[in-house]
Amino acid sequence: MTKEEVKKRIEALRRELREGNYKYYVLAQPDMSDYEFDRKLEELQKLEEAFPEFYDPNSPTQRVGGEPVSEFKTVKHKYPMLSLEKSYNIQDLKDWINRISKLVDEKFTFCVELKYDGVSLSNQYIDKKLVQSLTRGDGISGDDVTVNARTIKTLPLVLSGSDVPNEVFVRGEVMISRENFDRINKEQERKGETTYMNARNLAAGTMKLLDPKTVAKRQLDFVGYILIGNNLPVNTQYDALKKLEEWGFFVPHDYIKAENLEQIMDFILDWGVKRFDFPYDTDGIVVKVNEFDVQEKLGYTAKSPRWAMAYKFPAERKLTKLLSVDFQVGRTGKVTPVANLKPVMLAGTVVKRATLHNEDNMKKLDLHEDDYVYVEKAGEIIPQVVGVDKSKRKPGAKPIKFIDHCPVCNTPLIKQGADYFCVNTTTCEPQIKAQIEHFVSRKAMDIEGLGPEIINLLYQHGLIHNVADLYDLKVEDLKDLEGLGEKSAKNIIESIQKSKNQPFEKVLYALGIRHVGEVAAKLIASYFKNIDRLMQASVEEITAIKGIGEKIAESIKTYFSNPDNIALINRLKQAGLQFEIKNEDNIIDKLHGKKFVISGTFEHFSREELKKNIEQNGGKVVSSVSKNTDFLLAGDKPGPSKVSKAESLGIPIISETNYLKMIE
Ligand code: AMP
Ligand code: ZN
Repeated sequence: MTKEEVKKRIEALRRELREGNYKYYVLAQPDMSDYEFDRKLEELQKLEEAFPEFYDPNSPTQRVGGEPVSEFKTVKHKYPMLSLEKSYNIQDLKDWINRISKLVDEKFTFCVELKYDGVSLSNQYIDKKLVQSLTRGDGISGDDVTVNARTIKTLPLVLSGSDVPNEVFVRGEVMISRENFDRINKEQERKGETTYMNARNLAAGTMKLLDPKTVAKRQLDFVGYILIGNNLPVNTQYDALKKLEEWGFFVPHDYIKAENLEQIMDFILDWGVKRFDFPYDTDGIVVKVNEFDVQEKLGYTAKSPRWAMAYKFPAERKLTKLLSVDFQVGRTGKVTPVANLKPVMLAGTVVKRATLHNEDNMKKLDLHEDDYVYVEKAGEIIPQVVGVDKSKRKPGAKPIKFIDHCPVCNTPLIKQGADYFCVNTTTCEPQIKAQIEHFVSRKAMDIEGLGPEIINLLYQHGLIHNVADLYDLKVEDLKDLEGLGEKSAKNIIESIQKSKNQPFEKVLYALGIRHVGEVAAKLIASYFKNIDRLMQASVEEITAIKGIGEKIAESIKTYFSNPDNIALINRLKQAGLQFEIKNEDNIIDKLHGKKFVISGTFEHFSREELKKNIEQNGGKVVSSVSKNTDFLLAGDKPGPSKVSKAESLGIPIISETNYLKMIE
């Protein structure tokens, strides 16, 4: 082939592959087989390798992701990226329509579309080619994440159409489909890694990754909903969406032209139900004034366009029958009331059980037998009972009381704070099994092959009654159990033996002393160096460690005051586990200078402890979110204004688990 012929061939291949990609990913109507696609891609890759002069950053071969980058440049937006004003009820929408109607003389219509719950991205195209993709950042400037954007298969790299202006900006939302989100979380679980809270966080986190190849594997999607530029071939929002579709974008499914509030409401009612079967998370709808000239007249406030309004869907709530209440005993003996419900569909999944949290909450709900209860998903994840329909209560129904004895071992319960505990840590079955599960987990002793089922089996066969028994197990004990064989039995025993090398801090964590999480265990281990000194330490000595509060110290004292625990530790010592620090080089400055804002409540720390811990690791805690903040560390029920501020500034929102990973 001559060079000219090579060039022609490369161009033809790129065109065909682009077309194939569009039909497959955007239209979901492939007309090329996977085999054919792969073969063409391979041919193109070879030609591009042999003729580097024809390199093109927008070639279909670049979808797999280029080389890792060390950071993202901050770039000023040509048109600021604003937020949307929000309403939570129809009255607000009505008020908004009245308000803007007074501001302009002309009649106008609306374009109503779905509000996708992802992260926004602004893409600049020059001569139809994608040149730059920016995150929202603080609205004025954002991060240049073009290398990551190029891996998004539903984001066109080259626009098709004869009416594309020289320069256009297409803004929209980067998302991860629910299916993909589940797939990624399953994979994380399989690898023993932390799972993501929701698809939006995952999409946001993914766009900030510095390795485009990892981004490509996450299979993000892009939906376009705003077209900006001079000399646009359209003059309404509705036509703009049509145009975007024509140019190769995936646009909000669906969208309508509306003349009045009634039509807008129909759309809201319709999608309020349909959204649960929709492949992407949506958190509302967006109403936009349709005509661009009217939009221009209405203009902008400092924060948002006056011509658009988001309507947020209310959290879904269902009424269902309470069948019974179980009291579950956890690893630390904590007893949690759980409602068994008549199965009900809620936000896309069937819910049969919902937490009742604790006694106080049960009292507040005033729960009676056979009640009809309202369930909601907290943060769209854990179902909880939020209320009772008292009008449906049968006369004479008995109130449901919290129990006073352990439902499993009948030990009297002890109240601490808002919770009740079964203090029988040595023979209460669910506690023991959960302790063993915790002990073998990856972050503790890291023993492989001992999942909950096998642990249950070993327990039922009387082979283990506590964690020390693990070290007496032999291949012969295991190999004949159901589901095991010589090979897996050997592997398990080998892994148990290997765990004897786990360092003191992991052993201390593995013991499962209440409130002693990974971080506390690390701090305590490096301070006391061995278990004997820790056993003799007073509460004052323990709290002298930066980051360790009284709650933890008291809990440690309680633990060591139990002779059963001392006996257990002695057996583990004899088995050869590490109860002292060998080499000492884990001094910590993992967060050097990073600024954190903390919001919500946390599992492993009080707010004060968390602050201490961040400082201990070299980070700083600031009180409000600004563009200088590095992370918003969000616990349970974080402040909504902090969250939205962080989102609007593109500041990563991390969970407690993410944080623990950071300082691991
Ligand atoms: P919020 O993130 O709740 O402040 O809502 C505003 C954001 O909604 C915008 O910045 C966009 O990222 C996002 N959004 C999702 N779908 C749309 C849409 N169809 N039109 C405009 N914005 C949208
Ligand atoms: Zn018990």
